Order: sequence, then structure tokens, then C-alpha cells
Amino acid sequence: ERKKLGKLKKTPAVTRDGTPIMLLANIELPDDCPAAMEAGAMGVGLFRSEFLFMGRTGYLNKLPSEDEQFESYRKAVMAMKGRPVTIRTLDIGADKPLDAAEQTSLNPALGLRAIRFCLAEPQMFLAQLRAILRASAYGPIKLLIPMLAHAFEIDQSLAMIEQAKNQLRDAGKKFDPLIQVGAMIEIPAAALTLPMFVKRMDFLSIGTNDLIQYTLAIDRADHEVAHLYNPLHPAVLYLLSSTIAIGAKAGIPVSVCGEMAGDIKLTRLLLGMGLREFSMHPTQLLAVKHEILNSDLMLIAPHMKKILRTMEPAMIMSAVEQLRAD
Ligand code: PEP
Ligand code: MG
Repeated sequence: ERKKLGKLKKTPAVTRDGTPIMLLANIELPDDCPAAMEAGAMGVGLFRSEFLFMGRTGYLNKLPSEDEQFESYRKAVMAMKGRPVTIRTLDIGADKPLDAAEQTSLNPALGLRAIRFCLAEPQMFLAQLRAILRASAYGPIKLLIPMLAHAFEIDQSLAMIEQAKNQLRDAGKKFDPLIQVGAMIEIPAAALTLPMFVKRMDFLSIGTNDLIQYTLAIDRADHEVAHLYNPLHPAVLYLLSSTIAIGAKAGIPVSVCGEMAGDIKLTRLLLGMGLREFSMHPTQLLAVKHEILNSDLMLIAPHMKKILRTMEPAMIMSAVEQLRAD
């Protein structure tokens, strides 16, 4: 089976009816890039940069320096040989603590995590932005901002990116001045106020792991409620499909980079919602490609209204299973 899938490495991901699909890899460190290339990824859809910051002792003074980060981002972009690398700015907190001892928040998932943390530590954030920008002189890089919910967070993030660019200009350092900036859609409030994001951003990436957590109020790391963590809950499907549809209507690229994108049981459901960009762990990539090669959008389309209109879990389940039968 693995051997058969291996043959698909160079096969373009296209549905049976000829629609091209972009398959990208999620990585944690630059050393994951060879595996992404080996799996035939068209690029990196999510570089979780927090992994450069984790597992270090001490606190802010022990974070990777701008130069150290620059080397890591440059290494990733070089390893991808001209394929785009989407670097997500530090998404620290909750399930990814910077330093366990520092986590004082009662509800860390609802606390000062990700972009909230970065906006509260502007010097650290600027250093990361400069490092990413400097690496963009070596190949195509996109910037992705996690956990946005408020317009002012988007505006402050964009202002800080401009500030980092100006600092680099003053220092005579090269970068891509037209670097694209995107938002993670992973808080329900963001999905429900999408025009605010579409107006300000170049692209969107749906983080279903957190979107499910926050929509259903289920801690994604708590085993006691794991049975309630359901990607097929109608509320989750509504937020997903409306985000994909609004993005498409506005003509801005939308990807899914949460675990749902790598689940072959859900590939056709996502295709039916209009998703054309999937980013996943490299080990899932060829199996998802196999599913796409055997999928026909014409056969999926007639089932979608039923799936997205019903609130009955059993009906959703059986309809999603039915999608795979064709
Ligand atoms: C997500 O939330 O779906 C996501 C891709 O990001 P992370 O799992 O790193 O929070
Ligand atoms: Mg997330």
C-alpha cells in the first residue's frame, strides 16, 4: 500500500473532473523539509515557528535570537527549493507552553497566547518579524498570524510588519517588500466576522484544531472531554463552509491547516465545501492525494446541501460516509 502511494509523489493532485488541488506540508522545524519534499508537497502551508522557541530553559532572555531564527527560516526556504513556505509567527501558550513554570493563567487556551502574547512583547515580535523578512530574500515566504479575533489585532500586526520592514531598510538588509500576510481563522469570532479579515489580509488559513476547541468549548488537550471533540458538529461545519465560501467569493486563497486537512475520511467533504488548498503532516499527503485523484466534484456537489443544512449528527455522519462510496 505504501509503495503504491509512493508512486503518486510526482503525480499532480487533480480531481477526476480536472480541478487542481494544492497539497502542502505542516512542519515544526526546518529539518522536516526533506520529508515534505519527499512526500511531494507543493510547499509548506504551516511552519509552526513556536517549536524553535520551545524546550528552552529560562524565559525571554533565552529565546532564539533574530540571527538564529533567520538561519532557521532561511534553511527551510532553501530546503523547499523555490516552493512557498508559510511561516506562522509564534503561537505560544495553552498546549504549547514556552516554559511550563511561566504558565500562570487559569485558562491558558483563553489567555495571553499566540498573537496576544506577541503584541504584549513587541521587541520579541519585531525580532521574529525581521528574521522572517530577512529570510524572504532567499525564496518565497508568506507570513501567517495565529489566533486573531479583533480588527485592532490585525491592524497592530500589520503595523508591526511595516515597522520591521523599515528597520531592515534602515539597516540596509534585503527582504521581499511584497511579502504576503495571512490570518489563521481559528476563533469562531473570526469566522463570523470574515469580511474584516478579507479586507485586510492576502490569504486565510483555517486552524480546525483550535476552531473546534473554541466552537465546542472542548479543551483539545483534555482526555476527559475528548469524546466531545467532533469535527462533524454542524456548528463546526457551518463555520468551515462559510469561511471557505466567503474567501472564494472575495477571491482570496483559503487553506485548511488543522488535522481535518489530513483526514482522508473528510477529504471529499472539504472538496465539496470548495476547499482547494490542504496543508497537513507530510505522512498524510500521499493518502490524501490518492483520495483526491479518485474524487469527482460533480458527484460530491449534490450531497453538500443536505450535509450543510441538517443539524442531525447521524445524518451528517452517514452522508459524509456516503461521499466516499461514489
Ligand atoms: C490549528 O489550530 O488547527 C492549527 C493548525 O494550529 P495548531 O494546531 O498549531 O494550534
Ligand atoms: Mg491553532
